[in-house]
Amino acid sequence: MKYDENNIFAKILRGEIPCKKIYEDDFVLSFFDINQQKKIHALVIPKGKYIDLDDFNINASQEEIIGFMKGITLVSKKLGISSNGGNGYRAIINVGENGGQEVPHLHFHLFGGEKVGKIVS
Ligand code: 5GP
Repeated sequence: MKYDENNIFAKILRGEIPCKKIYEDDFVLSFFDINQQKKIHALVIPKGKYIDLDDFNINASQEEIIGFMKGITLVSKKLGISSNGGNGYRAIINVGENGGQEVPHLHFHLFGGEKVGKIVS
């Protein structure tokens, strides 16, 4: 599958669509989900053009992989939900059709600010 340059997160990365930005560095952009599912619902996306987790793990550089993973914790700290100083959160990635992925640009969902329950259905 080819990366869709016009997916909504690509447009947000290019600044064509606004977002409520939480954090940005060379590797990630983080912003609040437009359709908030929990008290805090943040998205963290890599800056590179990766469709999903498998695409990322196969094609991203070590630097990009480390930058993306560390980005999660930088965002969780900024939001005050880190396990180190906060009360924790759930990080999930939906992958592909069966995983329920709607936007074809890799993203972590971070849910927190309250108890999020045992599972996300
Ligand atoms: P997925 O189902 O692909 O894992 O999650 C996509 C997420 O992107 C959904 O939770 C949806 O609410 C969010 N989303 C879709 N369009 C926009 C948008 O234009 N802005 C923001 N901030 N979030 C969006």
